[in-house]
Amino acid sequence: MRKGDPVERGTIDRSIEVAKAPDGTSSSSKDNIEVLNPATGELVSTVAVDTPETVAATVARVRANQTEWEALGIEGRYRWLGKLRDWLLDNSERVLDTMQAETGKVRADASGEPVYLTDLINFYGTRAAKFIGEEAVRPHTPLLASKKLRVQYRPHPVVGIISPWNFPLILALGDAIPALQAGAAVVVKPSEFTPLGLAEVVKAWKEEVGGPDVFDCVQGVGETGGALIDEADFVQFTGSDRTGRKVMARAAETLTPVSLELGGKDAMIVLDDADLDRAANAAAWGGMMNSGQICMSVERIYVEEPAYDSFVAKLTEAVGKLRQGADGKSFGQEVGAMTSPNQTAIVEEHVQDALASGAKALTGGKRLPGPGDYFEPTVLVDVDHSMKVMRDETFGPVVGVMKARDAEEALRLTNDSRYGLSGSVFGARERAERVARRVECGAVNVNDVLVNYAAMDVPMGGWKQSGIGYRHGEPGIKKYCRTESVVVTRFAGKREPTWYPYTKGRRRLISRVAQAFNARDIKRRLSLRG
Ligand code: NAD
Repeated sequence: MRKGDPVERGTIDRSIEVAKAPDGTSSSSKDNIEVLNPATGELVSTVAVDTPETVAATVARVRANQTEWEALGIEGRYRWLGKLRDWLLDNSERVLDTMQAETGKVRADASGEPVYLTDLINFYGTRAAKFIGEEAVRPHTPLLASKKLRVQYRPHPVVGIISPWNFPLILALGDAIPALQAGAAVVVKPSEFTPLGLAEVVKAWKEEVGGPDVFDCVQGVGETGGALIDEADFVQFTGSDRTGRKVMARAAETLTPVSLELGGKDAMIVLDDADLDRAANAAAWGGMMNSGQICMSVERIYVEEPAYDSFVAKLTEAVGKLRQGADGKSFGQEVGAMTSPNQTAIVEEHVQDALASGAKALTGGKRLPGPGDYFEPTVLVDVDHSMKVMRDETFGPVVGVMKARDAEEALRLTNDSRYGLSGSVFGARERAERVARRVECGAVNVNDVLVNYAAMDVPMGGWKQSGIGYRHGEPGIKKYCRTESVVVTRFAGKREPTWYPYTKGRRRLISRVAQAFNARDIKRRLSLRG
């Protein structure tokens, strides 16, 4: 297959054992991955797969340079990351072209990625000293008055990042940046569907920024990811909960710590006192942005009964108007392609399952004929929790809307999920905030959607089966560090009273002093006196 050749649609088997997909849609092999443009079906490029041996060699190489990188200190590392920020600002169009070709996103959806990343570099560069700088701690008891207590944060030497295809830069570089700022060396394995944008940035770090050799990527499918888990000292994984379980099990073999950012089934609650125009516009954007391929997409909506009819009409109109197609740089389309045909198959299955069980599509409802892989922006009503579309992660441009008797029922349905990534509540501010505080998830927005991801000041992570660990805020950099407590003796005699030789008299004295300090009532404090 040659660059530019169109490819028939179907699903793509990327399992390492299969040299050629059975349906002939891809000639990816054990050694090479063909990257297709989902907006047009054309071949973009071919990428060589890394073997477990080349993964081990890459990790060993960056590991050898990590001590020197750590020794640069927070400021020194920020200077290098600042150069990467400048490169991203100067070359964002080039990066966007590459990333748009491998994802099939519309330009507007793609263009948020460099903006987020440059902001993130400055965020951690200017706050790392506060988040992971050495801490001075006062001893909790006068018995330790001779000790100086310090906590220093030392990085895991090599952080391995395994990332998905929906935001190829944000979800790879976005984790690499705090890890590098913490002093770790980083190796990323991007998704096999979208390996190009990240590889371009890594190449630029080496050749144009001239950054220290502590940042690299390896390419491939699950086998390459597994090899990275075996070699890394800490694993940051973003992807499905299905793969997350495998990652955690593999990491358990070497007792390697993991942080998992997994799937979601985010709900929106619309209260009857909400601004329904804002709520409908938010639901349309929050559900369809990036073709619904966002872990935090609005996938389920529960509307208080009095607002239901009006909200559904407004939402259907907003979604029905969306323009869909290959966008290039025109900013003339709102909804792009599905990046992975495997995901499109899941979206189609969820919608068909719902329709077969009595749901109705008020707009959309089907996969479009090629070229390119598109699923229509879809609003489903008459749905319930027996349907996959309200239970499992759809990860496509589909929302299901249900009527709720009241806020209590909306909350019960919202929390009736094995996921708990994020959510949103629309309504009069104080009431909406009260409801929002009871949603069982890692982040909840009041009268907005998705915006918590831009508020990198606060942590973001999943409850329940949506993940383990957090990105953003203080935990988003601290997780890449191990704490080392340093206890320094400031003044001392030849021996401590607790050391050898043991004598009855000294033992009694220690007990009395300890009791005097630990007792919280006068009777016990005094009972041993005399
Ligand atoms: P996926 O789980 O199929 O793959 C993710 C990554 O894991 C890819 O790089 C893949 O090659 C790799 N991988 C696959 N098998 C592996 C194995 N056995 N060992 C090691 N690595 C392996 O996910 P996807 O389809 O690429 O992405 C979509 C999923 O990601 C959705 O579930 C979405 O919700 C989730 N996601 C979560 C967040 C978050 O922050 N919580 C953000 C974006 C996407």
